[in-house]
Amino acid sequence: MAKELAVVLSSGSLASVVTASLALQKYRIILVHLEGGSASARSSTFDQQVQHLKPFRAYKLPLPFLSTITRTEAAPASADLRSADPRSSAGVAGRLIDLMPAVTLGIRVAVHHNANRLFLGTRLGSDSNDLARVVEYNQIWSELLSLTCDKPDFDIESPLLELLPWQVVDLGIQIGSPLQLSWSCHASQVDPCGKCAGCQSRHLAFQRAAKPDPLAASSTSRKQSPTPDEVPLSRTQAARLRAS
Ligand SMILES: [Zn+2]
Repeated sequence: MAKELAVVLSSGSLASVVTASLALQKYRIILVHLEGGSASARSSTFDQQVQHLKPFRAYKLPLPFLSTITRTEAAPASADLRSADPRSSAGVAGRLIDLMPAVTLGIRVAVHHNANRLFLGTRLGSDSNDLARVVEYNQIWSELLSLTCDKPDFDIESPLLELLPWQVVDLGIQIGSPLQLSWSCHASQVDPCGKCAGCQSRHLAFQRAAKPDPLAASSTSRKQSPTPDEVPLSRTQAARLRAS
């Protein structure tokens, strides 16, 4: 019997690709990506994920208006910092609001394909005060579908919710997730900038997992004259972290 279908929301991030790989272990997946504004690195990363993961279907939904409202209305001005800090309730609430259009479209796609699962890459870490808030968020969507839409079996899952960034890397490597096909940089360019909060948090996650970032390796190999110190430096730092 064919596996059941599940929808996976993918922003192109590291958490998204690990979530998709996890879902693939039990389901045939349908990947959904919301595209805000012009073509971005995340969007082309999503295309690469589709090529690699070979989902049952993939939808890239253009919602350019999202890029004009996300930061100004739903989230505070310092959205980057706050959303990076899982202890900040304001940040988590803002992220859950930002997630709403994606969840509703994911649900709509799932219903179209008779799928009863929606996977989100939401991640807070095990010591967050907001774990219950996200669990409830997922449950209320399920109840909404059950009580008002005659969909009693619909579940929303956030399998990475309690993991720290380095644990997402570790899990991704264990299950053979294509981590090189994920994008964390906030800038839209060919190679990650290496300086923004997204790049730094990714760098730290791989360091703490004591694993080389395959994306960093592939960008280095694209450069005409790679900096010879780059890879050994990160290995040294990783060893230091392991020793501490
Ligand atoms: Zn960056």
